[in-house]
Amino acid sequence: MAYDSNNIFARILRGEAPCHRVYEDTATLAFLDVMPQSDGHTLVLPKAAAENLFELDDEAAAAVMRTGKRVALALREAFRPDGLTVMQFNGADAGQTVFHFHLHLVPRYAGQPLRSHGRGMADGALLAEQAARLRTLLGS
Ligand code: 5GP
Repeated sequence: MAYDSNNIFARILRGEAPCHRVYEDTATLAFLDVMPQSDGHTLVLPKAAAENLFELDDEAAAAVMRTGKRVALALREAFRPDGLTVMQFNGADAGQTVFHFHLHLVPRYAGQPLRSHGRGMADGALLAEQAARLRTLLGS
């Protein structure tokens, strides 16, 4: 399937749609998931167009993982979770709903099951406060 340059993450990357930005560099952007499966749920994207892992070039793959690790450390500091799950879906049949490659960084809290995937909008003011805290920790 050809990359759809109007998918919501492509629009966020072009600044046409808003996001609660956590971190940005020349190759990647990280922002909070608007329907978080746990507090602090963050998405990490390459800026280069790539629908999924199969399409991702090596440079973008390395950049995404570097940013993912950096943001994971900030999530640990900000939210003090008991663990962190990294998820990444390729293809609708694998659970992918937005067709621009992204890593999910999902902090985990003892005794708390994950909330549903892609359902239940978080409070915007809460996300804004959480993103600001993470940006401070990341110096971004
Ligand atoms: P996927 O199913 O493709 O792996 O995950 C897509 C994720 O994007 C879901 O967790 C969903 O909650 C999130 N999402 C969908 N639309 C938006 C949006 O407009 N903004 C943000 N920040 N996240 C979104």
